[in-house]
Amino acid sequence: MTAVQGVVSEEGADRKMPPGVLVEGPVVDAKFRDSYIAFGLMIGGSIAALVWAFTQGIGWVEISVFAGTFALSTVGIGFMHRYFVHRSFRCGPVMRTLLAAIATMAVQGSVLKWVSNHRRHHLHSDKPGDVHSPYYDGAGNPHVSFVKGMLHAQGGWVWDRETTDAEYYAKDILADPIAMFFTRTRWYWYAISAVFIPGAIGYALGGVHAMIGCVLFSGLFRSYVMTMATSLVNSVCHSDGRYGYRRFELNDGTTNELVTTILTFGEGLHNNHHRFPRDAYLSHAWYEIDINGLIILGLGKLGLVHDIFAAASLPGSDGGERSIPDPEAMVGSR
Ligand SMILES: [Zn+2]
Ligand SMILES: [Zn+2]
Repeated sequence: MTAVQGVVSEEGADRKMPPGVLVEGPVVDAKFRDSYIAFGLMIGGSIAALVWAFTQGIGWVEISVFAGTFALSTVGIGFMHRYFVHRSFRCGPVMRTLLAAIATMAVQGSVLKWVSNHRRHHLHSDKPGDVHSPYYDGAGNPHVSFVKGMLHAQGGWVWDRETTDAEYYAKDILADPIAMFFTRTRWYWYAISAVFIPGAIGYALGGVHAMIGCVLFSGLFRSYVMTMATSLVNSVCHSDGRYGYRRFELNDGTTNELVTTILTFGEGLHNNHHRFPRDAYLSHAWYEIDINGLIILGLGKLGLVHDIFAAASLPGSDGGERSIPDPEAMVGSR
């Protein structure tokens, strides 16, 4: 796929859709291949995990490994979102390698794909061209009902006959050898996250029985549950005030929703995030607990990351007085 004069890819572009959306060609085919394999394994594994749990039983080993790897994946998606998509801080190559590894181990697609989709989401939030809006489907048509829209935002969008052009949205990722190494080797990292780490811990702590339980319950089932938790940000946190509350009146359906915020370690503060997309810390009140943001601030204190983007809610900042950043600033160094 080559970009034509930096505007739109020549092959597979849809004239009705905004630039940067591909509706046919090898990239769309590759997306379907990845999705069928990943969701086939996760959903098949989840069914097997539930059968195993009810027939063989699970114990503290499986539950602890589930909780630990769920937390690691949730932090990984926090870095995927705030570092690779929005560049809310800077760091050196060793740290970037670590962040790319745990981001990929969340089993939500490669860094390249996640970044491309999410930047497109911000540029067209809840408008035709949004990747996963409760209001418009993959062809840019309004959803026929609220429920259909929510289901599309929660997961149906993965099966839309189109995909995001990384040449348009993620030139910086394409030029980053570390991010591209993890993009190319994504399946190894999915396997390490969903099979090898849970299996090894299970075997060490409880032998073969716990190993099988951990792979199914704490590996494959956890990957699916964690992906569904992240997806609440696309559905619940774009529900236009039906769930959660709006701190800022924006031209989209974003809300802050506190259950999603707990489950996603802060990503559910999504109205705040759309208002200040580049902020590393999303909390604007004591009850808005942003664990991923606190981790980034902590890494900054340790000197492991730097140039943390001036968070609107931090003491000494100018609060809500800034204008909404322009799209170029929002998507970093595209
Ligand atoms: Zn959003
Ligand atoms: Zn974002």
